[in-house]
Amino acid sequence: MGDFTLDLNEDQLQMQQWVHDFAANVIRPVAAEYDEKEETPWDVIQEAANIGLYSWEAVSNWFADPTGLTFALVSEELAWGCAGIALSLMGTTLGVSGIVGNGTPEQIAEWVPQCFGTADDVHLAAFAVSEPDAGSDVSNLRTRAVYDEAKDEWVINGTKTWITNGGIDKVPNVHVVVASVDPALKGRGQASFVVPPGTPGLSMGQKFKKMGIKASHTAEVVLDDVRVPGHCLLGGKEKLDSRMARAREGQSSRVQAAMSTFEASRPLVGAQALGIARAAYEYSLEYAKERKAFGRAIIENQGIAFKLADMKMEIDSARLLVHRACWMGRNGKEFTAGEGSMSKLKAGEVAVWVTEQAIQILGGYGYVREYPVEKWHRDSKIYTIFEGTSEIQRLVIARAISGIRIP
Ligand SMILES: Cc1cc2nc3c(=O)[nH]c(=O)nc-3n(C[C@H](O)[C@H](O)[C@H](O)COP(=O)(O)OP(=O)(O)OC[C@H]3O[C@@H](n4cnc5c(N)ncnc54)[C@H](O)[C@@H]3O)c2cc1C
Repeated sequence: MGDFTLDLNEDQLQMQQWVHDFAANVIRPVAAEYDEKEETPWDVIQEAANIGLYSWEAVSNWFADPTGLTFALVSEELAWGCAGIALSLMGTTLGVSGIVGNGTPEQIAEWVPQCFGTADDVHLAAFAVSEPDAGSDVSNLRTRAVYDEAKDEWVINGTKTWITNGGIDKVPNVHVVVASVDPALKGRGQASFVVPPGTPGLSMGQKFKKMGIKASHTAEVVLDDVRVPGHCLLGGKEKLDSRMARAREGQSSRVQAAMSTFEASRPLVGAQALGIARAAYEYSLEYAKERKAFGRAIIENQGIAFKLADMKMEIDSARLLVHRACWMGRNGKEFTAGEGSMSKLKAGEVAVWVTEQAIQILGGYGYVREYPVEKWHRDSKIYTIFEGTSEIQRLVIARAISGIRIP
């Protein structure tokens, strides 16, 4: 029992410090600029690639930590710098999760390094599930993948929306697309496909202007008779065919192409939300000690001091849930109570609440763009929406704890 510890080990502390320095020295100084410009921060991505932070080697090193915590620590620090820029770097890992969650070892070895490229030839990746009429309801995808047996190719048609890094063609971009092979089987008739960079027929539709995380590119992806080789079906055709056969016979299965990816990535998305919350908490704590009203620092009022106490407590409790889910995921523990969803739900809602409190503590200064706090609030809101809205996370938890398929 004496082995239990919540202390970070030396490797984790070093990695945390390294990424924190990058966030403080490279990301923060340009955060407001990219928020205004609403453009992908190529110079930051390049710098991260130059020092090896944006690379498959780094990500596999984070994944390898047997406690599962390193990737969460990295995500929190990057988002502490700027969540939009963090997502420009981490968006690629969504595509990677799609490959790792569904691919064979050979497919993982072939495609994952291509998602990052090298410092001399930076690549990106995107994970395209959501559609105009299927966001929360991912079982209802309209994008179709049809097998052309004569050519051993899959032909994909449809429109994806809200896709992080979607359709960017400035650098080679690996798209992982979830499509329906047999719509009658809903989620169990879906599969994930790698669409290699430069494949004809894949293009960017509308690029969205957003409330927050503006440095992160979000766009529609149009798939018009996109043809990919048979081996681009993640997991392979044999596995898909047998899964669909089992579904047609009415046998139960727990695997859905999109859902297995989300399970793995939700705690890390929660860790990003924590980074925003911590940034706002730290800033408003210092501000409250400096700012004077009625002849004393505003923190000397319980109304402000208690707010900061609650902010710190909420952030720490959310972090414990995130770290628990990361540890469980890495150590093969089953999420019997929706622990992955719980971590993302709590961290997302804490980030929205904490950043709003921070605005209140800064008063008028919290509301204007000269100060960073209003941006953190705008950035935080997406964390209750993407990778499953807060309502959907509650649904996952409620179903897990009750065993009832609550609609
Ligand atoms: C900036 C950004 C980046 C994104 N990046 C990606 C990406 O890289 N890849 C990708 O595939 N998608 C991405 N998304 C899509 C995102 O995951 C979806 O927006 C999200 O899943 C919600 O889907 P929706 O917008 O269609 O909302 P809807 O599903 O239409 O939901 C609308 C509202 O109804 C509620 N609701 C729906 N069903 C239920 C229910 N059964 N019970 C209770 N409430 C319910 C929802 O919680 C929500 O409040 C991104 C979105 C944004 C905005």
